[in-house]
Amino acid sequence: MSDDATRKMQFLYALRSKGVTDKRVLSAMETIDRGPFIRGIFSERAYEDMPLPIACGQTISQPSVVGLMTQALHISPRDKVLEVGTGSGYQAAILSKLARRVYTIDRHSRLVREARDIFDDMDLTNITAITGDGSFGLSDQAPFDRIIVTAAAEDPPGTLMEQLKVGGIMVVPVGQSDAVQHLIVVRKTPEGFEYDELRQVRFVPLLEGLGKDG
Ligand code: SAH
Repeated sequence: MSDDATRKMQFLYALRSKGVTDKRVLSAMETIDRGPFIRGIFSERAYEDMPLPIACGQTISQPSVVGLMTQALHISPRDKVLEVGTGSGYQAAILSKLARRVYTIDRHSRLVREARDIFDDMDLTNITAITGDGSFGLSDQAPFDRIIVTAAAEDPPGTLMEQLKVGGIMVVPVGQSDAVQHLIVVRKTPEGFEYDELRQVRFVPLLEGLGKDG
């Protein structure tokens, strides 16, 4: 087997062994190459199940965490999804394979620009990447079927909960940025909200306003 095929098999094996079992999610993660989302010296570690540094002092999430969060969203092909925290664009690219339309927001314009270039190269035409403070969501496109937040909030952001459809699901890491955080699944029902806790995680914090370093 070629090195490439072996690496791909190990990557998928690591995902499965950490609980990513949904076939559609695994297939999306097999299709989207993580390599182009990581630049510089860390690029050779793109196929390891590790978070890695990207520009603007941020991180691309660990693939198994990307898989578990995506799986918890139960996305259907007609869904309109909002992601807060574009970062490298990797998570948005995977969402784009499962949903009808993906909106992704980051407070760093540089990250948004770089992610857009990769989406163009990969011909992922159903993603709109926007610079802004995602804690306020995207009122002109709301409500959303699914919302994923990939930065840690102290509480599930109220505005985002409002922008979720009834029947919708939101996944968000909740906790202080320097402490253990919990991945929370929020379901909006006609009666209100239901909460489930998935596992412990570590994400960079959800910050207010726009990034000053681009
Ligand atoms: N999903 C990304 C990883 C995100 S890292 C990936 O697949 O690579 C978290 C990102 O959240 C960072 O890029 C950070 O700039 C962004 N972020 C933090 N607070 C934000 C806010 N209020 N609005 C939008 N983006 C925010």
